[in-house]
Amino acid sequence: MRTKRDIYLAIAAFLTYFVAWAIFASPLDQVYWNIRYSLTERAAPASIVVVRLNPIIGPAPDEGSYYADVLEKLRGEDPRHVYLDANLKVVTYSLEREIKAFGSKLSIVVRPNQMDFTRDDASRATADIPGRNLTGSAQVVVAGGLTNFWKYVVDVPCVFRIDGHSYPSFAASTMSTPCLSNSIRPDFSVDPSTVEVIDSRDINSGLKREVSLRDKTILVSGFVGKQDGVLGYLGHRQQSLAMHDVAALSGHPIRRVDLEILATIFTILITVAQSVTRQFWRWSIYAGAASAALFGPVLFEGAGILVPAGSTLVVMTVFAAWRMWSRWRRKVIETGNAGLPNFVALGGHSIPAGYHVVVAVIGRYEEFLATLPPELHAECAHQIARRFSVGCGTAEIFHGEGGHFAWIEHDRDADNQIEHFEGMRALFSAPLLVGGHMFDTNVHFGIDRNGQFDTLTRLNTAIASATDALRTGRTVEQFEANRLANAHWELSLLARIDEGMRNGDIWLAYQPQWDYGENRISGAEALIRWNDPVRGPIRPDEFILQAERAGRIDALTYWVLEQAITSAEIFNALGPRFQMSINLSAQLVDKPSLVSATAEIVRRRGIDPHLLTVEVTETASVYNRPAAIRNLGELQAMGFRLSIDDFGTGEASLCYLADLPSNELKLDRRFVSRIVESDRDRKIVASTIKLAHALGQTVVGEGIEDLATFELLRKLKCDVAQGYYVGKPETLEQLRFRYLSLVGKQGKAFTSC
Ligand code: C2E
Ligand code: CA
Ligand code: CA
Repeated sequence: MRTKRDIYLAIAAFLTYFVAWAIFASPLDQVYWNIRYSLTERAAPASIVVVRLNPIIGPAPDEGSYYADVLEKLRGEDPRHVYLDANLKVVTYSLEREIKAFGSKLSIVVRPNQMDFTRDDASRATADIPGRNLTGSAQVVVAGGLTNFWKYVVDVPCVFRIDGHSYPSFAASTMSTPCLSNSIRPDFSVDPSTVEVIDSRDINSGLKREVSLRDKTILVSGFVGKQDGVLGYLGHRQQSLAMHDVAALSGHPIRRVDLEILATIFTILITVAQSVTRQFWRWSIYAGAASAALFGPVLFEGAGILVPAGSTLVVMTVFAAWRMWSRWRRKVIETGNAGLPNFVALGGHSIPAGYHVVVAVIGRYEEFLATLPPELHAECAHQIARRFSVGCGTAEIFHGEGGHFAWIEHDRDADNQIEHFEGMRALFSAPLLVGGHMFDTNVHFGIDRNGQFDTLTRLNTAIASATDALRTGRTVEQFEANRLANAHWELSLLARIDEGMRNGDIWLAYQPQWDYGENRISGAEALIRWNDPVRGPIRPDEFILQAERAGRIDALTYWVLEQAITSAEIFNALGPRFQMSINLSAQLVDKPSLVSATAEIVRRRGIDPHLLTVEVTETASVYNRPAAIRNLGELQAMGFRLSIDDFGTGEASLCYLADLPSNELKLDRRFVSRIVESDRDRKIVASTIKLAHALGQTVVGEGIEDLATFELLRKLKCDVAQGYYVGKPETLEQLRFRYLSLVGKQGKAFTSC
């Protein structure tokens, strides 16, 4: 069904074509033909001579007698044919007699009442046709050209229809064969300045002339001067009507075809060229198309067909501009600093079925670039690209930011794939040698095999997979379909965290801690929980990592601190001293704002910081160690207890113990859980407890899941127990219930709920 929109589109397309034609095609057409005729300029044929009829000035014979004199003299020189192109207003007996004496060797040229015509005008022209009594056996012919938008003659009609009669045009009357096509193309190559022009006074005076008129075609014309009328003459600007007549006499029949034949041929050739892969053939077709655009109109003209030239040139110009733009784009936008095509270029490729994107990432690439002089960076990238190229057998390697390289290769089955990437990795076992600098390289791969996505998405998922491989240390990671959905979720994580803190989806669980000495629950560790309405519970270490990466951990930690303070106040109001522990992210521990922000909360809430323990995980990811140590010292000075979490798992446990100000040491679950079975672990734990005590630290055993472990730790003089055996992390209400039941104030607690 044709909708209104289709009609508007059709109108818009038509208007666009028309405007493009008017603005570009028509002027280009004009320029084309002007150039074509000025390039093929030639001297006028010697067989044509123009006799200029001078205006009669002063006491001279009347016009008719004067023309008769000229004709008589000409007849005496025996020309081939004479055209009389004059305004026959006054016809004298002598003129009538002279015309008759000429017989069929004379043609009388009639000029219609206008000079230039459109095609329709020619069939309804008006003119004063001299009577038969005057013309006798002379033929009446009509002069006039069909002009274009710029008032340049393009062609001349074969026949004019005046008052219901057909008259041959001036040009057609000279044709030896009947003029079957609808018009005649004058030969504008004829240089008007070389046309032989003789003054009629010189004819009448009978002066001896160099030029003989014998057997010549003579055009006796009253329209030789520019004041007698001019029209555009292709290749030679404006020319008098007589010069047009000379060009018309040298013309040939032509059929004007307004169809865009050449533009169509050009477009087809260019389209075919795009799909040709062999450079030679593609450029041959381009050359053919360009020749068709440039020489096609002339060749067609030679074959008697006049086709538009401008629109083909417009198409050619647009195509050339598009090619130049693509080249520029490839050079400037799609080429990286090293001169290799970049990921924008890869994004523009389509991936054939059975192929996938591979991204390789070079670990610590930026670091080793930083040690190289800038002029060697490109060489370095090229060396790496060459190795990949050898490994994957693909010539085109794309280079992205930060040591990422990518290419497209065909799918392999799982076993072959691992082998293939291990092989590629082996290519990098030899160090890179760049300008005398040697580097070991560490390469990981990410692949995407999900054909339903576009190239850019597949490239991005391959990058993400390669980053995962780099992080996990695996040779290759493959894109998983649900990864994209996760990526969407992760991207909106921060907003969700804010929302969760507001609406209660994020909350704190409390895990009780048992004091061996006092035989009671002496505190709890606050552990964050997130129940997302869509995804269900989300593991804290998972979203905390995300929040850390996104620099959003501050807000989350201060929120935890506020909640934990509230809970600490509740528990301390219920019984003896209750110690509340919170976890401090390694990302936050060295932040300059940590101490002031914490101090502000403590001051506002008016709590005794001694009731709060800050747990710091021993991690190498603290960026600024001195700042971290300073911060922790200040927190300790404010009254906070400091605890080293997960002790025994990191690489620098003893260094931590020596450097970090701390009051407590939490033995990691992995040690604690094995002490019953493993003699060795038991010894490590025992000596660690002794060491901690020697340093004045309290020891907390984490991850105690059974009575045996619980009792063994008591024997080893551990101070505090934490784990599922003592109690799982639970809500504030659950912990309060347990606490009250243990401290014997259950009734009071329930009535106060
Ligand atoms: P963590 O600080 O080492 O916390 C102890 C983890 O061990 C908790 O896991 C806890 O549920 C679990 N756990 C306790 N007892 C046992 C046991 O007997 N057996 C076993 N198998 N597990 C036990 P959770 O709650 O999943 O927390 C994981 C990690 O997330 C925490 O490790 C901590 O590093 C981090 N985290 C939790 N809450 C916060 C927070 O508020 N801020 C920060 N920065 N990190 C937090
Ligand atoms: Ca902890
Ligand atoms: Ca821990």
